[in-house]
Amino acid sequence: QEDVFKKLISHAKEYGFIFPSSEIYDGLSAIYDYGQNGAELKNNIKQYWWKAMVQMNENIVGIDSAIFMHPTIWKASGHVDAFNDPLIDNKDSKKRFRADVLLEDYCAKLEEKAQKEIDKAAKRFGEAFNKNEFETTNGRVLEYREKQKSILSRMAKSLEAEDLADVKALIEELEIADPDTGSKNWTEVRQFNLMFGTKLGASADSATDLYLRPETAQGIFVNFLNVQKTSRHKLPFGIAQIGKAFRNEIVARQFIFRMREFEQMEMQFFVPPGTELGFYEEWKQKRFNWHLALGLGEENYKFHDHEKLAHYANAAADIEFKFPFGFKELEGIHSRTDFDLKAHEHHSGRKLQYFDAERNENYVPYVVETSVGLDRLFLAIFSNALKDEVLEDGSERTVLSLPPALAPVKAAILPLMKKDGLGEYGEKIFNDLKFDFNMIYEDKDSIGKRYRRQDAIGTPFCITIDHDTLTDHTVTLRDRDTMQQERVAVADLRRIIDEKTNF
Ligand code: ATP
Repeated sequence: QEDVFKKLISHAKEYGFIFPSSEIYDGLSAIYDYGQNGAELKNNIKQYWWKAMVQMNENIVGIDSAIFMHPTIWKASGHVDAFNDPLIDNKDSKKRFRADVLLEDYCAKLEEKAQKEIDKAAKRFGEAFNKNEFETTNGRVLEYREKQKSILSRMAKSLEAEDLADVKALIEELEIADPDTGSKNWTEVRQFNLMFGTKLGASADSATDLYLRPETAQGIFVNFLNVQKTSRHKLPFGIAQIGKAFRNEIVARQFIFRMREFEQMEMQFFVPPGTELGFYEEWKQKRFNWHLALGLGEENYKFHDHEKLAHYANAAADIEFKFPFGFKELEGIHSRTDFDLKAHEHHSGRKLQYFDAERNENYVPYVVETSVGLDRLFLAIFSNALKDEVLEDGSERTVLSLPPALAPVKAAILPLMKKDGLGEYGEKIFNDLKFDFNMIYEDKDSIGKRYRRQDAIGTPFCITIDHDTLTDHTVTLRDRDTMQQERVAVADLRRIIDEKTNF
């Protein structure tokens, strides 16, 4: 399995799908760049999602909200509270400063300790992506952080009371608190310290602290009324969005499965209170079917219903996919109640209500959310498609059997040779079809080599131009999966490619 995963990572690099970010500077941890083929595949996945969610549902519209948002949004969402509250409530700036310094100091130590734990585990188990060990390690680190947090909040109180003896005792306690249990408590624990901070404004004194958004959902919540009023949609209706999110993940070592900069495709569906669980079931099923329609095999998916719910949810499930390292979360479907909109009402002082003409009342809508990681979906599709095959003649080939609609390149135009006018004929076909399909033209190397290269990037069709083409205007069309070749008229190419590769 590890070998399979290693091969996948090197294939992704060798064929221009995914590069480690800043590679010439030895890379940046858990950050990746998409290359020429990766960007095409990713765009096609986005389009496939967008069409299914926005274009095909007359009651869903799409937006594109900014990554930077008002800092209070992360208080309302609950992302900053747990860690910072004891300090924010402390009105004496001098004490606050001291608490801040202590906090920073201990956070740094904590990071160091967490890293050591992780390194130890990695060493013991040889490879970094051994899932069980990492989850356990992560769980232990998070538990440790939880302990630290409680001590720090007590410390802030002692500082306020100027009880320095107590602070000292707490520092000692902080030193000896150690993770020994393996219990996991994701949602609650991971929220507060995973956000990246930055500054808005030029001068240091007046600059405002901002966060890079850890989820795209809040951009939808704060725009709920803007969209509802301008689109004039009645409930139930949805808002969809594709965009970057950032999380300073503690353990981010499973290639693009868990990144620090990633993309989410989310849809928040606003419904009347009391109807949310029906819509929750409906969206669970719809999203599951959407995944199945990709054709990666029903046996590779399963639901995982959550028993332990985040503070904002009254029902939640994951759609899990069988990655090379086992079944793991691909998409989350959450019934988020009116938690977010109510919290924003409270923090902004603005009403976020909807007038329901049928019920003749104003209320804060409930929300059912579907949230899928674009990069995770990319990994699911890519890992499922990559295959080594032994052919009838005993030779081997590596083929990327991507769903044709998602393939980065739809057809490769391959004149047997450039001379004798074959090259020009190929260019003519290329120019004729390029408005409709992303294609490649190649006239170098043996035809066998060129076929293999196209197999490796998942191109569904190879179109070969030979001397007969010049007179009978037919070409050889090779199918990526069956490798069968047939003679077809140049005039039919557009229709044939379109039939196979449209959504
Ligand atoms: P996990 O438990 O795997 O960290 P999560 O429950 O925190 O995920 P959500 O906050 O529900 O995830 O985000 C929705 C989706 O966003 C996830 O299902 C996943 O596909 C994707 N996602 C979340 N974190 C990351 C990440 N660090 N890198 C890539 N994709 C991510």
